[in-house]
Amino acid sequence: MTKKTTKTKKNDHAFSTKALHVGGEPDPTTGAIMPPIYQTSTYVQSSPGIHKGYEYTRSHNPTRTRLEQCLAALENAKHCHVTASGLSAEMLIMHTLKPGSTILCGDDVYGGTYRLFTTVFSSLHKFHFIDTTNVKAVEAAIKKHKPALVWLESPTNPMLKISDIEAICKLATKAKAIVAVDNTFMSPYFQKPLELGATIVLHSMTKYINGHSDVVGGALMTNDEKLSKEFFRLQNSIGPCMSPFDSWLVLRGVKTLALRMEAHAKNAMIVAQYLEKHPQVESVVYPGLTTHPQHKIAKKQMSGYGGMITFFIKGGLKASRKFLESVELFALAESLGGVESLIEHPAIMTHASVPKKIREELGIHDNLIRLSVGIEDIDDLLADLDRAFKKSKS
Ligand SMILES: *Cc1c(COP(=O)(O)O)cnc(C)c1O
Repeated sequence: MTKKTTKTKKNDHAFSTKALHVGGEPDPTTGAIMPPIYQTSTYVQSSPGIHKGYEYTRSHNPTRTRLEQCLAALENAKHCHVTASGLSAEMLIMHTLKPGSTILCGDDVYGGTYRLFTTVFSSLHKFHFIDTTNVKAVEAAIKKHKPALVWLESPTNPMLKISDIEAICKLATKAKAIVAVDNTFMSPYFQKPLELGATIVLHSMTKYINGHSDVVGGALMTNDEKLSKEFFRLQNSIGPCMSPFDSWLVLRGVKTLALRMEAHAKNAMIVAQYLEKHPQVESVVYPGLTTHPQHKIAKKQMSGYGGMITFFIKGGLKASRKFLESVELFALAESLGGVESLIEHPAIMTHASVPKKIREELGIHDNLIRLSVGIEDIDDLLADLDRAFKKSKS
């Protein structure tokens, strides 16, 4: 009788198993169940050029390698490169393009992305901003501008607009353009753009992937080996690498990504429904609500709706201010995706770098409030919002 010898690879496991075990293997030298933090800048060589694969931490570090293995597995990608921040990951993408390239970019991208493109890379490349929720408009723009890269963020920040990633990837591929998707809001748990046809996935790990508001970091995933080599060459040459300690923190945070995303989405759905019924609310934007303009696409390409909600409060800037000052549990702060609930005012805070005229065109009005719904007890969150609504009643 022949014994079955098929070994299960850790990469064949389901999401939450991979989050714990890929890159989370016990330390082979000591048996320590948690991976060591290789807090070192350099590595001893036995003879010049003879080493164990590690020479200098800007290029490689064993703790960072573990994190890259884990994230690649979670996004079902062949390659992952972890960077010092989400924006430095974006910078590396920009440097892979030939100078003078054309980039077609969504018109409601993260404020920092908009600033990077329009104030830093606008002298190197050409950017066209369009509403990527409109596939026909994207098709026409691809024909007209012949971009090298289409940049999508879906859902967007803060309007939570959703673009049909698969349809746009098909159009781009036909026109020989590549597609990069900023997947920060969904995390690989709820959305996998590479499987929808994207060439590059980008994350600000600062948000859901780390999830504990204590690290700033970025990640790039791709199945394209040539591009991956280019990312490495650029990162090694420019230097935005993540420290061993930060890599270790993210490796720790990512273990609970599945649990956290489920809890964020569950709480957010209840908060969105509560807001939708509230008399002091003008309107609510949440991809999980059937009233969301792209709810159908959200349902098709995402396996959950995430923890971000945008709503318009009645009473303009005065009511917004009062509301933001009155919450106690929701912390008034920029950023998102941590376990604790945050609240912010995009027009004054995260999106101040977007000119007022463009903000208004995008719908980022002074009565717009953005919530990053955390994993606290839902009754406490609702009570906090209730209290703030009562206080902000004029
Ligand atoms: C925060 C964020 C970024 C930038 O990432 P940093 O880690 O802050 O550099 C990019 N895209 C989105 C959608 C973000 O929320």
